[in-house]
Amino acid sequence: MSFILMKVLITILVLMSLQMCTQIKKSENSPKMENSTTKNNPYYSRTDRTKLNVPNSEWEKILSPEVYAIAREADTERPFTGKYNEFDELGEYYCIVCGNHLFRSDSKFSSTCGWPSFFEADKEGVAYHRDTKFGMERIEVVCKRCDSHLGHVFNDGPPPTGTRYCMNSVSLEFVGDSESK
Ligand SMILES: [Zn+2]
Repeated sequence: MSFILMKVLITILVLMSLQMCTQIKKSENSPKMENSTTKNNPYYSRTDRTKLNVPNSEWEKILSPEVYAIAREADTERPFTGKYNEFDELGEYYCIVCGNHLFRSDSKFSSTCGWPSFFEADKEGVAYHRDTKFGMERIEVVCKRCDSHLGHVFNDGPPPTGTRYCMNSVSLEFVGDSESK
């Protein structure tokens, strides 16, 4: 009788440890969607467009200092230094902070201003704020989902829109068509 009881106990223990193993494996395999400039970012998603309301004190822990300074404190990268300034691969541009879709490479044009420029944005991707800093009247472009600073928009762009989205490379994350397939 006690032998049977022991057998049952051992079987239960083995089953429990197996269950634990599969649980550990599951969490290891869950996609993290991390990119090179963010640490463990639980807010990052390329599909969820729900508005985020995350304080800067939290973003500061997640983002690299460079991304934090530009995306959250509206700093500007030096002209002609951004990795997407002279860059013409086919693909999609996302917000580096939250993964929201912002631009398609079709709307990128070579501008001489020193920053990556687009004549059209994803309407669901961006929002606008009036910016009067430095005594200038400008329109700031932010990510519609996480409110991160992307750059400014001007009305001296090429056809068909005449609009120039002047963006910081640091705020963008490019995913090439070949990578996403
Ligand atoms: Zn964003």
